[in-house]
Amino acid sequence: MVDAVVVGSGPNGLAAAVLLARAGLEVEVFEAADDVGGGCRTAELTLPGYHHDICAGGHPMALASPFFRAFDLATHGVELLTPEISYGHPLDGGVAAVAWRDLDRTVEDLGAEGSAWRRLFAPLVRQWEAVVDLAMSDLRHLPRDPIAAARFGRRLLEQASPLWNARFSGEAAAALFTGVSAHAIMPPRRFSAAGVAVLLGTLAHAGGWPIPRGGSQAIVDALTADLRRHGGRIHTGHRVDTLDAFADVRAVLLDTAPTELLRIGRVPSAYRKRLERYRFGGAACKVDFALSGPVPWQARELAAAGTVHVVGTRAEAMAVERTVAAGRHAERPYVLVIQPGVVDPSRAPGGNQTLYTYAHVPNGSGRDVSAQIIAQLERFAPGFRDLIQAQHVRPAARMPAHNANYVGGDIAAGAMTLAQTVLRPTPRWNPYATPLPGVYLCSAATPPGPGVHGMCGMHAATRVLRERFGISTDPAVLLGATVRSAA
Ligand SMILES: Cc1cc2nc3c(=O)[nH]c(=O)nc-3n(C[C@H](O)[C@H](O)[C@H](O)COP(=O)(O)OP(=O)(O)OC[C@H]3O[C@@H](n4cnc5c(N)ncnc54)[C@H](O)[C@@H]3O)c2cc1C
Repeated sequence: MVDAVVVGSGPNGLAAAVLLARAGLEVEVFEAADDVGGGCRTAELTLPGYHHDICAGGHPMALASPFFRAFDLATHGVELLTPEISYGHPLDGGVAAVAWRDLDRTVEDLGAEGSAWRRLFAPLVRQWEAVVDLAMSDLRHLPRDPIAAARFGRRLLEQASPLWNARFSGEAAAALFTGVSAHAIMPPRRFSAAGVAVLLGTLAHAGGWPIPRGGSQAIVDALTADLRRHGGRIHTGHRVDTLDAFADVRAVLLDTAPTELLRIGRVPSAYRKRLERYRFGGAACKVDFALSGPVPWQARELAAAGTVHVVGTRAEAMAVERTVAAGRHAERPYVLVIQPGVVDPSRAPGGNQTLYTYAHVPNGSGRDVSAQIIAQLERFAPGFRDLIQAQHVRPAARMPAHNANYVGGDIAAGAMTLAQTVLRPTPRWNPYATPLPGVYLCSAATPPGPGVHGMCGMHAATRVLRERFGISTDPAVLLGATVRSAA
């Protein structure tokens, strides 16, 4: 008889499994797909020898989250390669704004807008660990560092209000900031979009936005190896269709969307009704390219950027995200581009390149928007089309077939509205517990939400250990770190 079962092997499921196994429990993981990793996998999607990240590609949180700070991927053989430019943002006319990892250099490049950028980020960069601990908490406790929390909160409120246009006098810095807020796939001035931008913007100038050598798979492979070393077992190609099979297991952790809990569990009707109100948000059409060379950006500095936000001005980004939120396709969509080749030549053979892109589309969209993505890239990098050797398209509507958590192609496993960010999946003091005895949720549909940070898994596992097994050891101590965690 195992002590605990984890359903789903995404980064949160594996983070939870690692903690439970390190606490001495017997743990089994069941994964529907044929490979482990959920939204953190790498595969040869286009041509032999071209390694593409299927979902997550950029990893600021793999360095910064309390779980990964304690787990320490480097000691597990994962090389996180950090581009000099965390992200860039091309504008018409062959120019671009860029966020260098070096804040001073960014400020210098932004010219007249530089000092406003420094005032926005410098205090947070100095306190980045406290900022991350706050944003990656279970959102149920008072912040440990009230000063850092106040600084973060003040900037977040400003950037979620009409005052956001007052900070920057020109187009470059405003566009640069907006490109990051749009990661939330919602109109960028919303509260959670502003939170995403302030948090990721801070990390861009702290540890940077690293890319793992060989691909995102390296992160989950390290977690998997650690789990096995501590006695855990993983069954792939095993979709769980009923929780009845685990009736005698003391703890079952679901690294799944709430929709999956409704499908496989006998959920009491009051909780069922609340879960049924959980909403999925904007989606992504993912297009991966095999290229014969680097993207020929007009703005040359973008050649050194790990991530590029392709949409144009702040006004264009706002219009695009409003269109998507209204359930329509944008003619010139927001395209998130990752260029792994900037730091990792191992992704493609013979000096060729892989290029990671996705465009924001309405939830459930079955449309292949590769033509629109190519047009947006041609707009800022004429000649891009000529480099394409092969491409692989995954429309939003096809994402759930590959991972049931991404309902309608929502890559955040649930809309990032303010209410659903704090109270995901339903308003409860313990959002990980369910009314089913011993059954917990641990996916990105719980706080603190999406991203490869392992924190939903860590918060859920901490509660499971305490509530089901009477173990109150600090998770950071279980992971071998000497620092206190942010639980
Ligand atoms: C296209 C895309 C791009 C992204 N880009 C980034 C990025 O650059 N950086 C970043 O940090 N994050 C990114 N994300 C988000 C990130 O991948 C997710 O937030 C993260 O993977 C969530 O981890 P998780 O463990 O909660 O769930 P997932 O990684 O989604 O894993 C859930 C697992 O559960 C399995 N499962 C579900 N139901 C069952 C069942 N009934 N039985 C068995 N197994 C089941 C699924 O097959 C899956 O393997 C991206 C996501 C997508 C889709």
